[in-house]
Amino acid sequence: KRKGKNSFSIFDNAMQQSLLDEHTLTADLNIALGRTHEIEPWFQPKVDQLGRFTGFEALVRWNHPERGLMNPGDFIDLAERKNLIIPLSDHVLRHACQQMSDWRRQFDIDSWTVSVNISQSQLAMRDFPEKVEKVLAATGLPARALLLEITETVVAENIYHSIRQMELIRALGVQFSLDDFGTGYSSLSYLRQLPIDELKIDKTFVDSLLHDEEGYAIVRAILSLAHSLKLSVVAEGIEEQPQWQELKTLGCEGFQGYLFSRPCPASQITEELGKQGLT
Ligand code: C2E
Ligand code: CA
Ligand code: CA
Ligand code: CA
Repeated sequence: KRKGKNSFSIFDNAMQQSLLDEHTLTADLNIALGRTHEIEPWFQPKVDQLGRFTGFEALVRWNHPERGLMNPGDFIDLAERKNLIIPLSDHVLRHACQQMSDWRRQFDIDSWTVSVNISQSQLAMRDFPEKVEKVLAATGLPARALLLEITETVVAENIYHSIRQMELIRALGVQFSLDDFGTGYSSLSYLRQLPIDELKIDKTFVDSLLHDEEGYAIVRAILSLAHSLKLSVVAEGIEEQPQWQELKTLGCEGFQGYLFSRPCPASQITEELGKQGLT
């Protein structure tokens, strides 16, 4: 009986602690968004079949003064619930476009693109297409150099409004990528309806590619389906050479993963581009 009571109070404390944590973290996030360098996108290179860089995906990081470097998994959810996801996402979009624009000016990378993840509330905002247009104008990034990544969850709430928004943005020359493909409930119906240019095969499928026949069959089917729909395909989460080899054999055209590079801060990418002599 005593033990029971004891574990109950532990649970209670843990819950209180996590509420307290959430409260401080929300306050911190509010402050961080007003500062310049605390929240920034990092960049993970994308490569082609020959392993040459073709661009980057921007992935947000929060360098918290006390907690250290935090991944999106630690705060995106919170930002979404506390109505901070819009300022957070806008901040990332602006910084990613500015950085890519700077790199384009500095290095000979005309055909490269930057991919930015878009949240549900961001796409839903009526003024989002206008915001994208303004960011491109302000940063000098050509629309064709920007890809916006959406997931099924992002469009699910209001598919018709989402499609309309996407069409307005696409009219600017910006491209759309359907992220985490195959992990949701109705991937195929979205594939038919959404105005997209690229499809990203989720890491879970890449992981199963060489492990079982079913995994292999699914990846092959996704590639064949996407190509019939004239979509280009990027596979994500590639960690081993044989996975890359097999995906190339199957006709996949773009690749991302630790095998090529982890996400890194912009300064490190600048250094790398300099070394490659792309100026
Ligand atoms: P995602 O868009 O599917 O991004 C890919 C995630 O896989 C990233 O995690 C990346 O670091 C990780 N990754 C890449 N290659 C490998 C690999 O070879 N092995 C393994 N194990 N992982 C790999 P990250 O940066 O923690 O981001 C997690 C998720 O947070 C993203 O998933 C995306 O949904 C979301 N996210 C990131 N940045 C933003 C943002 O600016 N806005 C919004 N709304 N969401 C974001
Ligand atoms: Ca993504
Ligand atoms: Ca993904
Ligand atoms: Ca994923």
